[in-house]
Amino acid sequence: MSSIVAIVGRPNVGKSTFFNRLIQRRDAIVDSVSGVTRDRNYGKSEWNGREFSVIDTGGYIKGSDDVFEGEIRRQVSLAIEEADVVIFVVDVEEGITPMDAEVARLLRKETKPVFVAVNKVDSANRMDDTFEFYNLGLGEIFPIAGMSGSGTGDLLDEVVKAL
Ligand code: GDP
Ligand code: MG
Repeated sequence: MSSIVAIVGRPNVGKSTFFNRLIQRRDAIVDSVSGVTRDRNYGKSEWNGREFSVIDTGGYIKGSDDVFEGEIRRQVSLAIEEADVVIFVVDVEEGITPMDAEVARLLRKETKPVFVAVNKVDSANRMDDTFEFYNLGLGEIFPIAGMSGSGTGDLLDEVVKAL
């Protein structure tokens, strides 16, 4: 069975955009409209000659903040259980939100390797804003732009080493 990489994080950080780039097929649901149900997506990918499966998480139920957060928590727990490696995506435009902090708390309890991908680093002048994500307490951070693919190679180099 191939190793599994799960992509987790709160809505709108760019998980599906990154997933689509990884699997080079646009069959994940990508949208910027909140309040729609999004399913889990599975795909196959390969980097540096290493094949692996990718899960794009992010299905959630529209509802109160409690339901919403509960759903994110459920998705993260499922992903941690299933995956060999977790990529935790955050958004440099938003900084660390309370939900990011909650996801980080869940991930810090685990022994599985976690890589923090700071997404939407579209230009060099956003680099300075990435450092605050070290405060998540999950180790090294990887500035990426899922849309252009910038930085994703350095991240994947480390991800496949951990498989
Ligand atoms: P998800 O909810 O985490 O799966 O996020 P999506 O992949 O659906 O993306 C949410 C929004 O962020 C969309 O409008 C994307 O176009 C945008 N987005 C994704 N990656 C990038 C990026 O690298 N740079 C910028 N500026 N926007 C991005
Ligand atoms: Mg998505």
